[in-house]
Amino acid sequence: MQTGKIGVTSENLFPIIKKFLYSDHDIFLREIVSNAVDATQKLKTLASVDKYKGDVSDVKVTVTLDKDAKTLTVSDCGIGMTAEEIEKYINQIAFSGANEFLEKYKNDANAIIGHFGLGFYSSFMVSDKVEIVTLSHKEGSQAVRWSCDGSPEYNLEDAERTTVGTDIVMHINEESIEFLEESRVSELLNKYCKFLPIPVIFGKKKEWKDGEYVDTADDNQINDTNPAWTKKPVDLKDEDYNNFYRQLYPMGDDPLFNIHLNVDYPFNLTGVLYFPKLKNNLEIQKNKIQLYCNQVFVTDSVEGIVPEFLTLLHGVIDSPDIPLNVSRSYLQSDGNVKKIAGHINKKVADRLNEIFKESRTDFEEKWDDLKMFIEYGMLTEEKFYDRAMKFFMFKNTDGKYFTFEEYENIIKDNQTDKDNNLIYLYASNRDEQFSFIEAAKEKGYDVLMLDDALATPLVNKFEEKHTNKRWVRVDSDIVEKLIVKDDTTTEEFTTEEKNDLSPIFQAVCPEGEGNFIVDFQNLGETSSPMVITRNEFMRRMKDMSHMQAGMNFYGEMPDTFNLVINTSHPLVKKVFEQKDEALADALSQLNTEISSLNADKEKLEALKKDKKEEEVPQEEKDQLQETETKLETMNTEKREKLTAFGKESTLAKQMVDLALLANGMLKGEDLNAFVKRSVELIK
Ligand code: ADP
Repeated sequence: MQTGKIGVTSENLFPIIKKFLYSDHDIFLREIVSNAVDATQKLKTLASVDKYKGDVSDVKVTVTLDKDAKTLTVSDCGIGMTAEEIEKYINQIAFSGANEFLEKYKNDANAIIGHFGLGFYSSFMVSDKVEIVTLSHKEGSQAVRWSCDGSPEYNLEDAERTTVGTDIVMHINEESIEFLEESRVSELLNKYCKFLPIPVIFGKKKEWKDGEYVDTADDNQINDTNPAWTKKPVDLKDEDYNNFYRQLYPMGDDPLFNIHLNVDYPFNLTGVLYFPKLKNNLEIQKNKIQLYCNQVFVTDSVEGIVPEFLTLLHGVIDSPDIPLNVSRSYLQSDGNVKKIAGHINKKVADRLNEIFKESRTDFEEKWDDLKMFIEYGMLTEEKFYDRAMKFFMFKNTDGKYFTFEEYENIIKDNQTDKDNNLIYLYASNRDEQFSFIEAAKEKGYDVLMLDDALATPLVNKFEEKHTNKRWVRVDSDIVEKLIVKDDTTTEEFTTEEKNDLSPIFQAVCPEGEGNFIVDFQNLGETSSPMVITRNEFMRRMKDMSHMQAGMNFYGEMPDTFNLVINTSHPLVKKVFEQKDEALADALSQLNTEISSLNADKEKLEALKKDKKEEEVPQEEKDQLQETETKLETMNTEKREKLTAFGKESTLAKQMVDLALLANGMLKGEDLNAFVKRSVELIK
C-alpha cells in the first residue's frame, strides 16, 4: 500500500470546491458520469482500430445507490487506469501550474472555476470519502483502489477486480443525503445525462403490479444515445423533429418550424432549434434552449450567450467549443461562444428566408405566430433587421400579406402626402378603431394591422431607417388630415362663431379622463358630426413609456384627445341655431358691449404704439387697464352663458357621447346615462 500527498495543496483546493461551488453542487454527477462515458468511448475507439481485443459491443455506464452503505457509485467498462495513470491524472489533478494559479486567483472563484474543469474533484462537494476501483485495459495490468477522505492524503493499494473499467464510489456526506434518494438522482441524470452517447443505466425499469411499482428484469436506461441533432438532416422527417421536440419538452405544443444546425467550420456546432408558438406577449418562456458540449448538458440559461431574441427559440445547441464547468460570466465572454451566437443569428435568418421562398402560403399561415419573434429580432439585432427585411410581412386589415417592398408599391400612388412622405396607415385594434378604419378605406387608403406589443417600437424603428416614410395610426387624426395632400379646406363657420361653439362642446366633454381640445373641421355633411382623435406622437410616447424605464415623464402625462367638430354636419348647425334661439338676446347685448370695448382698447393701444412706456400718460394707462378688465369680465360672462347652455344641451351631450362610444371610451355611469338619454330621445 502506498500513501502520498495529492499534487495540489488541497488545503487550498477543497475549501474552494466546497465553498464556491456549493450552490451548484449537483454538477458532480454530470462530471463523474461524463468521465465514465469518455473512458468508455476511448475504449471503443481503441477497439475499432484493433488496439483493444476485448468485447465492446455491450458497454454501458451504471449508476447504483446503496442506501445502507450511503454510497453512490458510477461504474463503467471504459479504459480504466493503472496506478501510474492515477498518479498522473488524479493525484496531479491533471493540470499543471495549479499551485501558482490558485495562489494568484485565490480570491476570485470564477477565475478558478473557469480555468479548471473541476471534473473528478467535484465529487468531494458531496462526499466524505471517494474511492476509485479500476482495472486498466492494458494487458497484464493490476487492479488498484485509490481512496481519499478530502484531506490531502490519499491511499493507493492493489485491489481485486477482473473486469476492465472503473468504479467511482462516493461516500455521501451528511449534508448531501439528498443524493441518496432515488428520485433526486433520477432527476439529475435526466437533467445532465439525457443525451449522452453511451447508455447510462440507473436501476431497473418498473411496472405497476398489485398496487405498487416493482422492478422488472430490464435495465432502466435514462438516455437517448442518438438524439436528433447528432443525425444527418436527410435522415430525419418532420415527424422525427417533432418527436425530438416532445422529448425535450414533454408538455409543449408542436413547434412551427425547425432549423437543423450543422457546422464544422470555422467551429464545430450542431443542434436543432425550433420556433415555438408564441403568445401575444413576451411572457417568460419556461421551455428554453439547452446548451450541450458533446452531448453533455451545460446550461439552459442562455441569456447573454445567444442573442436575446433567440432566447425565445427552443431546442438544443451542441458544441465541443462550449466550455463546461465555467461560470456564466466566463461563458458570456468566451470568444467561441460569441461566434456561435453570431452564426446562429445568421442561420435563423437564412432559414426563415428559405421557408418564405419555398412556400409563401405556409409562411403567411404561420406569420401571426412568428411575427413577435421576428419583430423582436429586428428591434434588437441590427444584422437581423437587414436580413429580415426580405421576409418581414405586413398584414392589412383585410388579412392580406405583403412584403415591405410589395406594400410600398400598393400605397405609393394614393398615400403620398404633399411633402412627398409615404404614409403607412395602421390600426392596433379592429373593434375599437372600426369607424376610423372604415373611413380610411372609403377614401381608398389601405390600413395595416399592427396589433402586437412590439408594434410601437417597431414603427419607430422603421421611421428611423426610412426618413421619408411615416406610420400613422388611423385614429390619430380625422381621415382628411391623416394624409395631407393640399392645404385648402372650406370653412363653414367664422372664427367668432367657432368661439361661441367651443365652450358649448367643451362643457359636455368628460371630466377627469384626460384633456379634450375642441377643434373644428369641415368633414362633409355625410361624415360623423364629431370624431375623437389622439395625437400619434403623444400616444407612441406613452406606449413606449410602458416598455422602457426612463420615459416615465410621458407615462405620467394625462392623455390628450382632440374633439373634432364637423362644421358642415346638420346637427352641429342645429346646436348653433339652438344656441341662437336660447341666448340671442343676452348674447347680442354682450357682443355689442364687447365690440365697443374692443374698439376702445384698439384706440388706446394705437395711442401708445410709438411711445416709450414712460411717455404714456398715467390717465391713458389707467383707461387701458380698466377696458381690459371690463373686457375680461364680459368675455367670462359670455363663456359662462355658453357653458351653461352646453351643459343643458341634450343634443351636444348626445353627439359627444356618440363620438366617445365610437372610440370605446364611454363606460360605466356615463354609458348608463347615455342609454337612458337615448331612450328618452326616441320615445
Ligand atoms: P477532465 O475529465 O477534465 O480531464 P477530471 O478531473 O474529471 O478532468 O479527470 C482527470 C482525468 O482522470 C481524466 O482526464 C481521465 O484521464 C481520468 N479519469 C477520470 N475518470 C475516469 C474514468 N472513469 N475512467 C478512466 N479514466 C478516468
